[in-house]
Order: sequence, then C-alpha cells, then structure tokens
Amino acid sequence: MHSVERIGRYRLERRLGTGAFGTVWLAQDDELEAPVAVKVLADNWSHRLDVRERFLAEARMLRRAGSDRVVQVYDIGELPDGRPYFVMEYADGGTLDDLLTGGPLPVSEALRLTALAARGAAALHEAGIVHRDIKPSNVLLRSSPGGSPRVLLADLGLAKSLAQASGLTLAAGSAGYRPPEQAQPGMGIDTRADVYSLGAVGYHLITGAVPGEPGYVVRPDRLRPDLDPDVQRALLRALEPDRERRWPEALAFAEELERLASPVRRPRPRRRTVLTLVLAVAVLAATGTALALVDRHDGSSDSEDVQVTDTTGRVTAEVPRSWDRQLRDSGWDPKALGLPTGHEPGFSVADDLTDWPDLKTGVNGVFVGLSEHGDLPAAVAALTHTGCSYDGSRAYTGARWHGTVRTWSGCPGSQGSLTEAALSPASGTARPQVYVQIRRKSAAPSVERLLASVRIGD
Ligand code: ATP
Ligand code: MG
Repeated sequence: MHSVERIGRYRLERRLGTGAFGTVWLAQDDELEAPVAVKVLADNWSHRLDVRERFLAEARMLRRAGSDRVVQVYDIGELPDGRPYFVMEYADGGTLDDLLTGGPLPVSEALRLTALAARGAAALHEAGIVHRDIKPSNVLLRSSPGGSPRVLLADLGLAKSLAQASGLTLAAGSAGYRPPEQAQPGMGIDTRADVYSLGAVGYHLITGAVPGEPGYVVRPDRLRPDLDPDVQRALLRALEPDRERRWPEALAFAEELERLASPVRRPRPRRRTVLTLVLAVAVLAATGTALALVDRHDGSSDSEDVQVTDTTGRVTAEVPRSWDRQLRDSGWDPKALGLPTGHEPGFSVADDLTDWPDLKTGVNGVFVGLSEHGDLPAAVAALTHTGCSYDGSRAYTGARWHGTVRTWSGCPGSQGSLTEAALSPASGTARPQVYVQIRRKSAAPSVERLLASVRIGD
C-alpha cells in the first residue's frame, strides 16, 4: 500500500497502474472538484538526477504541445521524500491496452483509433517533439460529453531513451512497437520513428498480436484472413524497417486510415502504391533483408519490354511488361548466396512476388542484384535447389557481360524453370559482379535478351 494519502493538494483514490518509471494514481482535486491522474517517479529512479530532470522535462513537453490530442499537464511538484510527480488530466476511458484485453477490435474501430493516435503524434511533431514510446498503454481514452471518446497520447519515451543512453538495459521504446533505428543508440531518431510505432499499434488492434521484430512482422492477413488488402498495405508501410519507405508523416498515415475506415471510400490517387510487405524471407530463401514491394498494376499491354531500376538507380534491366507488376527495389543481402553479408543494390520484379521464395509456386519474374564482395561465380556454382532437376550450365557472352548460366526445371509443384547467372563485365575487369535469377512458368522471353539488358551504373 502507498504510504501517502495526499500528493500536494490532490487526494489519492486508487492506483491506476505502474510502469517502468513510476506509478500513476487516480486522485481528486478537491479545490477544482475534478479527478486528475498523478504520476510519481519510482523511488529507485528519483535519486538519479538526470532521470528526474527528464521526467519533469517530459511533463513540460506535454504541456508545450498544447494540443487536445495530447494529455494535458496541470502541475508538477515534489513529495516530501524527494520523489517528483506531475499531475495530468485523467483519462476515464482507460487505454488502448485495456481495450485489447477483449481481443482484436472491429477493423473500422481499430482504424479510427489508430488514426486519432496518429493525429496526436502529428500534433507533437508540429511542436517539434518525437514521442518515441507510442504503444497501446500510452494511448488514453477520455469520454467527452455526448461525443465519441477522445484519444490522447501520454507518456513520452524520453526517460527511457536517457536510461538507454546511460547504459542501462531499458531500451528506448517498447519491444514490438519500436522501430529498428530506435533499438540502437546513435542511429538518430525522427518523426518517422513514431510512424512505425503507430503502425504497430494499428497492427495490434487489428490482429490482436504485437508485431514481431522489425523486418519479421507476420502479414496481418495471416492473423485476420478477411483483412482488406489496402488496410494491410497501410499498416505494413508504417512498419517498414527502412524509414525512407514508411509513410513520410504521421498525418499522411492518419488520413489513409481515415479513408479506409470510412464506409464510402474516396478513391486514392492512382499513383504507384507502395506496399510494404515485411517478409522474413526476401528475394531468396535465406536473406534477412526486408524489402518494400511496389504494386505496378497498370493494365497496359504486354507487347514490349519495360525498364526496371532499383532505388539507388544503379541496377537496371529490361523485362517483359507482364512481369512488371510487382517490384521490390530496395536491395538485397548477398549473404543469401553465402557471400559476405551487407546491403547491396538490387531488385526483383515479377507478376507476383508474394511467393517468390517458394519454388513450388509458378512465377514469371527476375531478380538482379549487384555483388561487390566475394566470389560470386563460386557461390552461384555451389547453389542447389532441392526438388528441382539440374539441367546443366553454359557460358554466356554478351556485349556487356560474360559469365555462367545454370538452369533448373521441374521444381516441385511448378512446371516452370529457374535460371541463374553469375555475370562480370565483358571487358575482363573483375567488378562489378551481378547475380541474376530468372523464374519462368513456361518457356517465355529469352534469357539472352534479359541478360543483355542488365546495366550497372556508377
Ligand atoms: P511504461 O512505463 O513502459 O510506459 P506504462 O505506460 O504502462 O508502461 P505508465 O505510463 O507509468 O506505464 O502508466 C501506468 C498506467 O497508468 C498506464 O498503463 C495507464 O493504464 C494508466 N495511466 C497513465 N496515465 C493515465 C491518465 N492520464 N489517465 C488515466 N490512466 C492513466
Ligand atoms: Mg505509459
């Protein structure tokens, strides 16, 4: 039981919860005759001057945000034993975490709540503040007379980032909601860190599960099979490990969620949509690099080849237009071939990339990846594809490249073929090396034409 019954002029009623840094009490402001929530820094932290200072800085920052989407702070003070506290508005509707005890929410409700939390984050960002610890227990609900509940963001993750910086084990942010750049000190944080956390909150509300580690997030429709693909896309774009590929602003994410929640949907401008499929398996079975997937349904004819380029602009090839439906263009990890690990430019483009790593699925597509380190021809020569029959290798010589091409056919369940090539410049220089993998459902465009179209820029 607590030893105090009053904190300043506030009379404690009951404990609302305890977090990593302290305890939050429901208290009564007898002067104003209103309930308030009082957060008191835990004893073991209150001796740490730096943490104390951050705790109070957090209260000041919440105040500075001055938004009705962020919990209001009324007062700060210190108990006679030295523990600092701050007094904030009481959220009588509990938190999103409380809502989750009943399992996943109806999708439209989950979308609306996440959108409101995202608007709260946008208000903080406006004020120059990155929250850094958005998670269900830090999203509060407050009833408003005659209206739907207000959603309030609470609890900036400042103290946690300080604890982490000082070498304590507490990482800034909370596992599952924390973007990769926040898991390591010194990476630099910007507002997109909050976009990731908001995506994780939406994911949790919709699937009932906390997302896995960044890059290893299970697709939401595996957990909620009837899920609208647009909702899935929106969530996975927020959860993209590479922040360059996330929604650029919390507000853009909020607007998309609101559009998806609305019963009458306005069509989205039909630009190429970025679908961030965070796959544990990327281009090849073993790589851990998570890639973004761009949907390229444009309904145009298949009469010609189109040029495809990766995000760095270095790797280019020409592919049949009908293959150019989905693109992952953010590179690869050559470790997948047993080469030194790293992140190198590359892309895969196919009529359907979802099951690319599964050789049992028929796909028309190609992967082209640059390999700057290690012995690519040896690595490719060592590759085997279990269940497929090896049709042998041959030399390839073109105007730009020469190398070895190996072909496999009759892979289990698909009648298609798999061709891979290790290329190096026809000029005789050792670098750059290029790995190409071509998957075809049936005999289609010539491998020669495709290999000849590969270009590597500087
Ligand atoms: P962490 O320390 O990892 O942030 P946490 O968010 O659960 O975890 P606290 O921020 O200390 O920890 O809050 C503890 C609990 O108190 C919350 O989970 C929430 O249920 C409740 N709470 C916090 N602030 C308020 C508030 N203003 N109104 C109502 N309940 C609140
Ligand atoms: Mg909290």
